[in-house]
Amino acid sequence: MRILVANDDGVYSPGIAALAEVAAEFGETRIVAPDVEMSSAGHSITAARPLSYKRTPNKNVEAYRVNGTPADCVALGVSQWEKVDVVLSGINLGSNLGNAIWHSGTLAAAKQAALLGLRGIALSIPVPKDEPDFEMLKPSVREVLKVLLKESPRLLNVNFPHENPKGMLWTRQAVKFYDGKIVAGKDPMGRQHFWFTVAPLTETEEGTDLWAVERGYVSITPLRLDLTNEKDLALMQARRPLDDAADARKVG
Ligand code: MN
Repeated sequence: MRILVANDDGVYSPGIAALAEVAAEFGETRIVAPDVEMSSAGHSITAARPLSYKRTPNKNVEAYRVNGTPADCVALGVSQWEKVDVVLSGINLGSNLGNAIWHSGTLAAAKQAALLGLRGIALSIPVPKDEPDFEMLKPSVREVLKVLLKESPRLLNVNFPHENPKGMLWTRQAVKFYDGKIVAGKDPMGRQHFWFTVAPLTETEEGTDLWAVERGYVSITPLRLDLTNEKDLALMQARRPLDDAADARKVG
């Protein structure tokens, strides 16, 4: 099995080192990750300039750094290494739960794998204060990979709890609340500036990713690439019919 490991925290993050080390127990593993931190880059790609792909030291696996986004790294990594089976992204320093996954570069790397017809698994851990102890986390990462690497849906979002996990749960994305907001401040010169920040959510619904992690479980959410809202599609087709699809079929 060939495993490509990417992230959005950058190639030198302790999270990617820990993930690649455990992944290497399961198959041939290679790191391809951004040369600088690209957190919250979402699914952006670099289209206006070329990318470079440089070997970078790593004590356990072959590693490369790319002057691009997480999605760039996966697209480039897969093009330069034949027969990749699965792309792992992370372990991100910071949760990717609920609506936060729209901004997430960690998720974008996994999504890019799914877009290319491969499997993508994003992994994240909260960082409330200190950096997580990745040595302590490794057995849990091993357990998760044991469940997911052999056979899994196309796209998965995994979130570890801060403490030693109590177990693993299949969950759905918490979509009821949005935690991103703009906070105003002043720079040292007294000029106003703004931070796009995330306020912790306080209310969680049972069965969601947020809920599972709060209770100390590893949350595993299967995601899909199809963003179509089937309910709204059916509703609008009935309420406000547009042109006849039969006519469109005749065109061309
Ligand atoms: Mn990150």
